[in-house]
Amino acid sequence: MRIGLTGLARSGKSTVFSALTGLDAAEGLRRGRDDVQVGTVKVPDARVEALALIYRPRKVVYAEVAFTDFAGGRGSASSGRGALHAMREQDALCHVLRAFPGSAVEAPDPVGELDSLETEALLADLEVIEARIERVRKEGKKTPELALLERVREALEAEVPLRRLELDALERKALSGYGLLTLKSLLVVHNVAEDGIGVPAPPSLLEEAAARGTGVITLSARVERDIALMEGGEQQEFVESLGLGEPAKARFIRAAFALTDLVSMITVGPDECRAWPIRRGLPAPRAAGKVHSDIERGFIRAEVVPWQELVERGSEARCREAGVLRVEGKDYVVQDGDVVRFRFNV
Ligand code: GDP
Repeated sequence: MRIGLTGLARSGKSTVFSALTGLDAAEGLRRGRDDVQVGTVKVPDARVEALALIYRPRKVVYAEVAFTDFAGGRGSASSGRGALHAMREQDALCHVLRAFPGSAVEAPDPVGELDSLETEALLADLEVIEARIERVRKEGKKTPELALLERVREALEAEVPLRRLELDALERKALSGYGLLTLKSLLVVHNVAEDGIGVPAPPSLLEEAAARGTGVITLSARVERDIALMEGGEQQEFVESLGLGEPAKARFIRAAFALTDLVSMITVGPDECRAWPIRRGLPAPRAAGKVHSDIERGFIRAEVVPWQELVERGSEARCREAGVLRVEGKDYVVQDGDVVRFRFNV
């Protein structure tokens, strides 16, 4: 999954980037304004770890999230064309809002920042859709696409982000190639000062976020960056002393998976135990296609067992005896935490 961090200058984007990736983003910041910095993190997964204890594989592979810090220097991060282009390729966007008092900057206005970031995204989408409408019109065809595009334009003009629009699967597919920013899942980070940890976000911000089809994650990026740069034991101790429960990274990644409707399919074996992030609702052959296109093409059946059963019983043979390992066909919809073995023929 690719998540793009956006925000006004000095909102703490790069600090959030460091908090999430454990990387120092300062170097990236000093480069030009269209420059982006990418950091990839493995998604911690206790299920895969438990299965690896049984299979002792050569390799354990976790799902990954790639964070991009759009280090745009002036105004909003999306001011540069290069950044805009890179932003269109993300699976989800995260607006970072400043809620800590900066020294030489104005009083925090997270609601205003959210509004300006979303307005910018709406306008960028409108530009894309209007250009497309003009093309389709010029071609002189009255296609179903035109009706959809006009509906989309109306929504954008009414400042409705496209993630709030009712779209069926076909319409979604028709729009998927445009990289529309307001169609992407959105996360909102309310970046508070150190003394704001544990204080709920203001209702006005929660309302604004809900109107845009998302919720709010409150964190103090500076504290979380310090946490991310600590060693394991020290980190745990510090997190507990702050009464945080867990680093913000864990909360953030869970929210991102939920918002983008991703679930984890798991494969096991002596070579590797691996988590595969897939869209919720994928039928078995399509899920198989994530592993290899040959498996999708030659799909015969899937042998499926929920990960808890496998961990509890210790082997696929015992799961089969107990009747908890099922043989499923091409219409089976893969569930979160399914351990799957595909049978195929090419
Ligand atoms: P960017 O321009 O959005 O990438 O912002 P930076 O991450 O560079 O942060 C801008 C300034 O705000 C830096 O001086 C940060 O140290 C500071 N900052 C970021 N997050 C926090 C925070 O949670 N609390 C406080 N007090 N300062 C922060």
